[in-house]
Amino acid sequence: MFENLSDRLGGVFDRLTKQGALSEDDVRTALREVRVALLEADVSLPVARNFIKAVEKKATGAAVTKSVTPGQQVVKIVHDELIEVLSGEGEPGELRIDQAPAPILMVGLQGGGKTTTTAKLAKRLTERDKKKVLMASLDVQRPAAMEQLEVLGKQIGVDTLPIVKGEDPVAIAKRAKTQASLGGYDVYMLDTAGRLSIDEELMAQVAAVRDVANPRETLLVVDGLTGQDAVHTAENFDERIGISGVVLTRMDGDGRGGAALSMRAITGKPIKFVGLGEKMDALETFEPDRVAGRILG
Ligand code: GDP
Repeated sequence: MFENLSDRLGGVFDRLTKQGALSEDDVRTALREVRVALLEADVSLPVARNFIKAVEKKATGAAVTKSVTPGQQVVKIVHDELIEVLSGEGEPGELRIDQAPAPILMVGLQGGGKTTTTAKLAKRLTERDKKKVLMASLDVQRPAAMEQLEVLGKQIGVDTLPIVKGEDPVAIAKRAKTQASLGGYDVYMLDTAGRLSIDEELMAQVAAVRDVANPRETLLVVDGLTGQDAVHTAENFDERIGISGVVLTRMDGDGRGGAALSMRAITGKPIKFVGLGEKMDALETFEPDRVAGRILG
């Protein structure tokens, strides 16, 4: 078991008997513990370094209020800094679906949870936001990928675009757009094909789909347990396709939330949702506070 950061820092400061303001030495000792906690939470080294620098600036010389211990004071400064880095602009969980039909493009690598997340999000938009949603699978590569989305659609009561064998992804995207307009849908979601790793063919295909769909949101779905790889994937997709937000899946696993911090610090893209399981309602709005708590332990 990890010792949590609050306890650790408490221990550090118990050994010190400083009063009043936090001294440079106190802060340095405490920050060593913070650094270990960040790395244990799978935050990347450069991100942890920058983070520590920012905290150091705020903590050095900060007055220790009477009601809290120096350890608690540093924990608070770390917590506030975590929230600042983790929070993106706008409300988390909010999507630009102000025009009808609003296209949402779902992108990511194979196995990241794209199809599952497409269906989870469609369910949320239908039930919570009372939107009429159409889902379409553009995955002509992976056997049974289109059927997978169709099955999920039936399960959650959301329409899927009828499957036409032999159609290419761009043609499917165009048909989805037409069907969404004619059928009076508020939103149509395009679930693109993934690959095991980033390749040029995949990017060209997704870019072609983006150009015909002109999406209001392009959401990258990545496995939150893959840490640094998730961040590299996001950088790549953003450079080639342009993403408007990120969905981190498998946050129900034993990862400690570090991927979220690295993702925000490196890409600057908002994390909109987190996946918390395989079930259709296991999708939640990203809450910086919760992830900060998880990192702090
Ligand atoms: P895709 O290839 O990106 O479309 O991935 P899928 O949507 O098919 O998901 C791959 C596997 O991950 C499936 O077994 C999903 O049930 C599972 N999965 C997706 N999201 C989550 C999540 O948030 N938590 C957990 N534990 N499993 C997930």
